Amino acid sequence: MIDFEPTPTQKQILSAAREFGKSVVHPAETTLDRMADPNQVHTSDLFWKVMGLAFELGFPKMALPESFGGMGLDAQTTGMVWEEIARWGPGFATSMISGSIVPQLIGFLAPDNRELVDRFVIPFCEDNTGRHISAWCSSEPEVGSDGKNYHDLRVRHHTRAVKRDGRYVISGAKSDFPSNGGIADAFIVFACIDPALGIRGSGTFVVPADAAGLKKGEALDKIGLRVLNQSAVFFDDVEIPESYLIFPCGDDYPTLHNAIITVGNLAVGHTAVGIMRAAYEYALDHAKKRVQGGKPIAEHQLVAKRLLTCFQTIESARALLWKGGWLSARNFPGDLKTSIAAKIYATEQAVVRTTEMMEIFGAYGMSKEYPVEKYVRDAKLLTVMDGTNDTLLIKAASLL
Ligand SMILES: Cc1cc2nc3c(=O)[nH]c(=O)nc-3n(C[C@H](O)[C@H](O)[C@H](O)COP(=O)(O)OP(=O)(O)OC[C@H]3O[C@@H](n4cnc5c(N)ncnc54)[C@H](O)[C@@H]3O)c2cc1C
Repeated sequence: MIDFEPTPTQKQILSAAREFGKSVVHPAETTLDRMADPNQVHTSDLFWKVMGLAFELGFPKMALPESFGGMGLDAQTTGMVWEEIARWGPGFATSMISGSIVPQLIGFLAPDNRELVDRFVIPFCEDNTGRHISAWCSSEPEVGSDGKNYHDLRVRHHTRAVKRDGRYVISGAKSDFPSNGGIADAFIVFACIDPALGIRGSGTFVVPADAAGLKKGEALDKIGLRVLNQSAVFFDDVEIPESYLIFPCGDDYPTLHNAIITVGNLAVGHTAVGIMRAAYEYALDHAKKRVQGGKPIAEHQLVAKRLLTCFQTIESARALLWKGGWLSARNFPGDLKTSIAAKIYATEQAVVRTTEMMEIFGAYGMSKEYPVEKYVRDAKLLTVMDGTNDTLLIKAASLL
C-alpha cells in the first residue's frame, strides 16, 4: 500500500515544475520580493509574465476536471507540485493555490450551471494570461477565526446578501487578507443570508470582479509572502443573479467550510515544506563549503545536528501531508483532523527550522544579499494562513 516512488506522470510533472521554478519563478520572486511598494508587484509585467507561463504549463488548473480543460490530478500529486513550486517561490505558489478557488468550487458544487461554467471555468482553463485568477473572501474586520468556529453560533454582522427581485444584493466588507483580493477576476464570497441562523446563515456566492459596486483595496504591506497579493474587498450593493449562489445557508454550510480547510490546509503545509527545503538545501551547501576551525562547518557537530534535524522534519512533515493527500484522493475532501495536524506541524516547523538554517550562515544570514532571511519571513505567514494554528488545533482536537 505504501509506495514512495512517484509514478511516471508524477515524475514528468515534477520535473516540469522544478525547471519552471528554478529558471522562472525563483528569479522573479526574488526581484518582486524586494519591491518597496506591494502594489507595484502586481502592476509589474514580471508578475503577470510568470503567472501567464504557469497557466500555459497548466499548474493552476492541475486539480480541475479534464472535462473543463484541467488536468484532473489528485491531491497527492498536486501537493508534490505545490511543494516544488514553493521551494522556488512561495509567494507565487500561494497565489496560484488560492487563485483557482472559483473554478474549483464551481466544478465541485455547480458543474451543471452552464452560465457559471462558461463565464468563470472555461476562461480560467483556456485563457493563459493568468488574468482569470480568483480569490476567496471569508475573513472580515470583525470576523477572523470566528468565521470558521462553528461551535460559536452568535449572530455576527457578516457581509450580507439580501434577495431582491430575483437577484442577490451583497453589501459589507472583507478583511485586508483575502489572497489575490486586489488582483482577482472573480471571487468566492461568504455572506450572511439569514442572521437568525448565526454562522449557519451564510451562503457562498460567486461574484465577478467587474460587478458594479465591488471595490478592491490597496495591497497589504507584509513582512513575508510579498509576492502574494492580499487586499480588502468592499461590496456596495453589488447585484448578482440568484444562480450565482452556489451553496445555500443551512446546516451543511460548516461542512463546506470544513471541506475547504481540509484541502486548503494540505496546500499550505506543502508550501511550508517547500520553504523548509529551500532553506535546508541552501544551508547544507553553505555548510559544506564554509571552513571555520580548520574544517567545513558541516563537520562541527552542532551544525550537523541542525542540518539533520531539518532533514528529519522535512521528511516527516511531507509524509504526514502525503497521508492527508492520500485520504483526500481516496474519499474527497479527506480527513479534516489529518489535514490540520499536517498543516500545523509543517508550518510551525518551517518557522523554527528556517530560523535555524539562517543561523548556519552566521551574520551573512541576516543580510538581504542571502536568500535565507526571506525564507524566515515567508514561513511566518503560513501559521495564520487558512486559519491560525491555535484555532485549527482546537478544531482538530475536538475531532479526536
Ligand atoms: C497569508 C495569509 C493568507 C490569507 N488568505 C485569506 C484568504 O484567501 N481569504 C480570507 O478570507 N482570509 C485569508 N486570510 C485571513 C486568515 O484566514 C485570518 O487571518 C485568520 O482566520 C485569523 O483571523 P484574524 O487575523 O482576524 O485573527 P483573530 O481571529 O482575531 O485571532 C487573533 C488571535 O486570537 C486567537 N484566537 C481567536 N479565536 C480563538 C479561540 N476561539 N480560541 C483560542 N484562540 C483564539 C488566534 O489564534 C490568534 O492568535 C489569510 C491570512 C494570511 C496570513
